[in-house]
Amino acid sequence: MIDAALRERIVATARRMNALGINQGSSGNVSARVEGGFLVTPSGLPYEELQPADIVHVGRDGHATGHRAPSSEWRFHRDIYAGRPEAGAVVHTHSAFATTLACLGRPIPAFHYEVAFAGGTDIRCAPYRTFGTQALSDAALAALEGRRACLLAHHGVIAFGTDLDDALRLADKVEALARLYWQAIQVAEPTVLDEAEMARVLERFRHYGPGSG
Ligand code: 13P
Ligand code: ZN
Repeated sequence: MIDAALRERIVATARRMNALGINQGSSGNVSARVEGGFLVTPSGLPYEELQPADIVHVGRDGHATGHRAPSSEWRFHRDIYAGRPEAGAVVHTHSAFATTLACLGRPIPAFHYEVAFAGGTDIRCAPYRTFGTQALSDAALAALEGRRACLLAHHGVIAFGTDLDDALRLADKVEALARLYWQAIQVAEPTVLDEAEMARVLERFRHYGPGSG
């Protein structure tokens, strides 16, 4: 896909975050991999004002090209593309329920089988580090090991996918699961599915999806 079309799709993805209710003001950011680096939303610009020309190119070496400053979180976007070859797009949100759990430092356990959508038996919560730092990126990459999503303590959520739709779908799924988990713990701490069952679910997810019969 040429850059111009991808810029449009990044803008559309950012706007869909608003429509899905998983965005909080101008917090959060969206990126997609391109040859030699990635395209990312600019820092601090509300998504309603965002135009394709505002999207910033960041090279693998961290060099930014564009008329705006790249997202302050460009480091974790860069490090995900470097460390996870399967990542084609990254979505970061401060969605309400997932961020509530993150503020409590609570990972999401296997209280529901769909936790496996994120790639494992839980959705980890990375320890708190200051936003925009290499330390936050390092903590996030560790929490993402074997996973496509994690919570960031006192901060928000990172989800990545093969493309923008895939990453957005997962960010939305994490928020839905966080909401269910939050509702459940108002009543009692739910039991969790055991390792053997989650292994079965993870195996089924390898073949699950449209067209997989
Ligand atoms: P940016 O506007 O710089 O992308 O920052 C938003 C954010 O969520 C920081 O963690
Ligand atoms: Zn953030």
